[in-house]
Amino acid sequence: MIDPKKLSNEKVDILAFGAHPDDIEDGCGGLLVKAAKRGYSTGIIDMSLGELSTNGTVEERQKEAQAARKILGAKFRENLEVPNNFFFNSRELQDVLVKAIRAHKPEMVLVPYYFDRHPDHMATGNLVREALFTSGLIRYETGQEKHRPTRFLFYMMWNEFQPSFILDITDEFDTKMKALLAHTSQFGGGKGTRKTIDNDADTLKFFEARARNYGFPIAKRYGEPYLSINPIGLDDPMGFIPNFF
Ligand SMILES: [Zn+2]
Repeated sequence: MIDPKKLSNEKVDILAFGAHPDDIEDGCGGLLVKAAKRGYSTGIIDMSLGELSTNGTVEERQKEAQAARKILGAKFRENLEVPNNFFFNSRELQDVLVKAIRAHKPEMVLVPYYFDRHPDHMATGNLVREALFTSGLIRYETGQEKHRPTRFLFYMMWNEFQPSFILDITDEFDTKMKALLAHTSQFGGGKGTRKTIDNDADTLKFFEARARNYGFPIAKRYGEPYLSINPIGLDDPMGFIPNFF
């Protein structure tokens, strides 16, 4: 696991956590692109280096992750170097997460949905949620100011949920896919690559199909679903996207 002293202190409006170096792109890439376009600062924390992945070396994957970060418009992308597939909760891991949250002071945090086929995705949502609570406790001392974000959302990976809202990503979908495809070792296929679900030609079609599936109910071409623990409050009663009736 990383020494938390190596983490940057860059404040961002939105902080997205992923289990592996290419999770964010699929789960909340559209939101990150849209937020950056609207002037919000965004950052990414990947929990692990994905060292148990079937294809690609750790070095290749880190290069790809930084290339994808630039496409998404995020200010930084850090890696906590938690052992791939062994995301056990511990005081040490919680301390690293709390220090990262307090360092970046996000107002919104995004994590993978807490039920998922991949144990690392599932663990990430729960581990970060615990750390967000501890981060708001004044008596948990790290030499930093306490911080608890005001907005917390789950994004979708493998398993589906009934969304609390769907974000229109019609204008961001192409950029999201470009960021995903920047992970060439995972999605590129090609010579010497082992066959996986990620580099199967049907998988990219599935990503588009899912975005269309969530765009349709909000009368848009592409949508990205989110789940909130709390109801989403509105200020303007007309402040949502006009829809079919
Ligand atoms: Zn993953």
